[in-house]
Amino acid sequence: MKIVFATNNLNKLKEVQLLVPKTITLLSLKDINCTEDIEETANTLEGNAKIKADYISNTYNLPCFADDTGLLVTALNGEPGVYSARYAGAQKSSEDNMNLLLQKLSNKTDRTAHFKTIIALNLNNTQTFFSGIAEGEITKEKHGEKGFGYDPIFKPNGYNKTFAQLPLDTKNKISHRGKAIQLLINHLNTIA
Ligand code: IMP
Repeated sequence: MKIVFATNNLNKLKEVQLLVPKTITLLSLKDINCTEDIEETANTLEGNAKIKADYISNTYNLPCFADDTGLLVTALNGEPGVYSARYAGAQKSSEDNMNLLLQKLSNKTDRTAHFKTIIALNLNNTQTFFSGIAEGEITKEKHGEKGFGYDPIFKPNGYNKTFAQLPLDTKNKISHRGKAIQLLINHLNTIA
């Protein structure tokens, strides 16, 4: 069976292909010649995952799953949330986003936060959602070079290092996306 993973991130695609049952071949947006920029106009993670999965299933008539992730900071009432990629502006700069977040938290004592990933799967005319959460806190300074996005300022609970200091396989085991993908894979294994 072929399923589209609605992403242009080839690293994410490779990572997930290794985990899905051998009977399933993942296709990227490039593989199906989808070059459109699918606008994420919803104000929830669920909404944006749904927009991407529905666009592909409806336009290409293929099974598809799509993910959307946000960082939710308790003292900022869940900011940046669904706007995580463009928190400091449309340039989508991770450095600018982290600097803005550190500045907004400078006078706060509660630095707890969590990452949340939502996956929407369209398969056999049914839509199913999977979610994964990683709890932790925002550090006062950036640490580490690995990963992407807010990794240098997010310290997961139970570790004294940021995501950007942890090996990728460790991050994948405890991360929001890793957990959501594992639930998706369990589901695909039951039907493959
Ligand atoms: P996306 O939905 O996976 O594209 O994630 C939206 C934004 O959330 C990204 O642009 C990053 O800023 C942030 N983000 C998502 N996942 C991670 C992660 O694992 N570590 C750090 N930042 C992340």
